[in-house]
Amino acid sequence: MKGNKIRILDKDTINKIAAGEVIERPASVVKELVDNSIDAGATEIRIEVEKGGKRSILIRDNGCGMSRADALLAYKKHATSKLTKIEDLDKISTMGFRGEALASITAIAKVEILTRPPEEIAGTKVVIHGGKVEEISDAGTAPGTSVHVKDLFYNTPARRKYLKTDRTELAHITDTVMRLALANPGISFTLLNEGKPVLRNTGSSDLFNSMVNLLGPDTARSMLPLDYGTEEFDIRGYVSKPELNRGDSDQLFLFVNTRPVTSSTINKAVREGYYTKMPKGRYPVAVLALTLDPGEVDVNVHPRKAEVRFSREKEVGDAVISAVEKVLSEHGLAPEIRGKE
Ligand code: ADP
Ligand code: MG
Repeated sequence: MKGNKIRILDKDTINKIAAGEVIERPASVVKELVDNSIDAGATEIRIEVEKGGKRSILIRDNGCGMSRADALLAYKKHATSKLTKIEDLDKISTMGFRGEALASITAIAKVEILTRPPEEIAGTKVVIHGGKVEEISDAGTAPGTSVHVKDLFYNTPARRKYLKTDRTELAHITDTVMRLALANPGISFTLLNEGKPVLRNTGSSDLFNSMVNLLGPDTARSMLPLDYGTEEFDIRGYVSKPELNRGDSDQLFLFVNTRPVTSSTINKAVREGYYTKMPKGRYPVAVLALTLDPGEVDVNVHPRKAEVRFSREKEVGDAVISAVEKVLSEHGLAPEIRGKE
């Protein structure tokens, strides 16, 4: 073969590939936009979806909004108000920090942003289709921000084809909102599908109340409150009585510094805490919030920030085991003495 085989991809292709890393499915859009609303200090977040989010996702918040100048920067790549220098990466306290979400979503969908800081009279409307700005104008709108995402993946047909049924995509969205709502009991969340309520939490700040609203009163009643502190870690939340258990770890809700995450270390440690009290192959229900020095957690391992790593993985695991053991024994449910392993 003659000539070059290697070519540099064009900018449009590069952007679409990068977007696909952050946005896997409609639930990823919901997660990124709700993260932004939380970072904006919102106390009310409303999410409306149609066709499992494939046709439409609308997120409205009452947060700090954006000035016109910020609204014009927000959808650009690496545009963020949350990280200014590399050192900041060592102590991230916001949900976002990479300035990737809006750039990714606007590259692969038709997006309309309406935003207004509470102190300003006029708001701004920005319409972007597939990375191309279609409209920028003044617009009357309530304080806060609404982002309307239509026809996700309309310009990346291969990805669009890979999406599952509306029902499955809605289930992923529901799980995402459930986790975010349990992680932020002080924020009011509403999720509507085709105009009908799917989830609602009032934002009472009370985690038990949130569990009643989101997991149902029967589950909430079978949960034991847990509050465990060491010098480095603080672990709070609820774990189920052993008789309430599930066939998979779907109902282990884990938050690290209020960020919903998964951690195989912690999943294992929670089960380990039950030892003989948890039937083989079963998992408890748990809502656990871990607080520790942000410098001890690496949230930058995964493009979607789903899996975290701890600088002291073993110590975190041991603290979780002790926390679970302690609450079970306080309720007369202590596992039998551990054998030599
Ligand atoms: P990141 O969250 O990593 O900063 P994003 O692309 O998600 O990146 O958002 C870019 C910027 O746009 C944010 O840093 C923030 O300043 C602004 N922004 C996005 N969503 C909102 C919102 N709902 N309310 C206020 N500002 C927002
Ligand atoms: Mg963000």
